[in-house]
Amino acid sequence: MKIYRFKHDGIIRHGILKEENLFSVRGSIFEGFTVEDTPVPIGEVMLLPPVEPSKIVAVGRNYKDHAAEMGNILPAEPLLFLKPSTAVIGPQDMIIYPKMSSRVDYEGELAVVMKKKAYMLDNEAPVEDYILGYTCLNDITARDLQDKDKQFTRAKSFDTFAAVGPCVVTGLDPSRLEIKTFLNGKLRQSSNTRHLIFSVPFLVRFISNVMTLLPGDIISTGTPAGVGPMQPGDRVDVQIEGIGTLSNQVLKIY
Ligand code: MG
Repeated sequence: MKIYRFKHDGIIRHGILKEENLFSVRGSIFEGFTVEDTPVPIGEVMLLPPVEPSKIVAVGRNYKDHAAEMGNILPAEPLLFLKPSTAVIGPQDMIIYPKMSSRVDYEGELAVVMKKKAYMLDNEAPVEDYILGYTCLNDITARDLQDKDKQFTRAKSFDTFAAVGPCVVTGLDPSRLEIKTFLNGKLRQSSNTRHLIFSVPFLVRFISNVMTLLPGDIISTGTPAGVGPMQPGDRVDVQIEGIGTLSNQVLKIY
């Protein structure tokens, strides 16, 4: 099932995609819903980020080839950082190139969307029950500031630096999905989630033992090799098997 969030006739709702139509949901995508039978063509709506997370927990260096290209050793435990909720944009929004940076990179990633509040999950906990589904995320990074600051907050947190979407897909096995990133149509990252160092179930358990994950919260699982800079005017597409393509353009307004 593909869950979208969209605006139509001034109203924001969630909807399920069937062929090229969205069917609005009544109720909560986290707690249960029914589907209305009046379709709206997807081409007639404004697509929004599929959820509104309280936080994005991102994982650094979770693919061997990316750790190597950055000259980093592999972490013994997941390397976590946060991206603020104010950085989130959807599939029809622009990435704004910040004035403070002169090197802004794309990072295509598989993102986990939480369904239920998760805290201190143990090894027996059924992790799948806590996950709503999966989406694409572009973990946009001001690489020059990351190098300068020696930590991630500023580099990862500018408004528009967390592109999410286009939808949340339920019932997907996250362990073997092709993931690709294109810059202006040219392939720049190509990998498979089977190369993740720390798996999705491991990450959910691990993070839930650090902080409470709330419905709609996002875990971004890390990027494979091939990261690189974007320039104003560029278009970046993050494409994941079974989910679709998240496409955003870069804009400089300052
Ligand atoms: Mg990343």
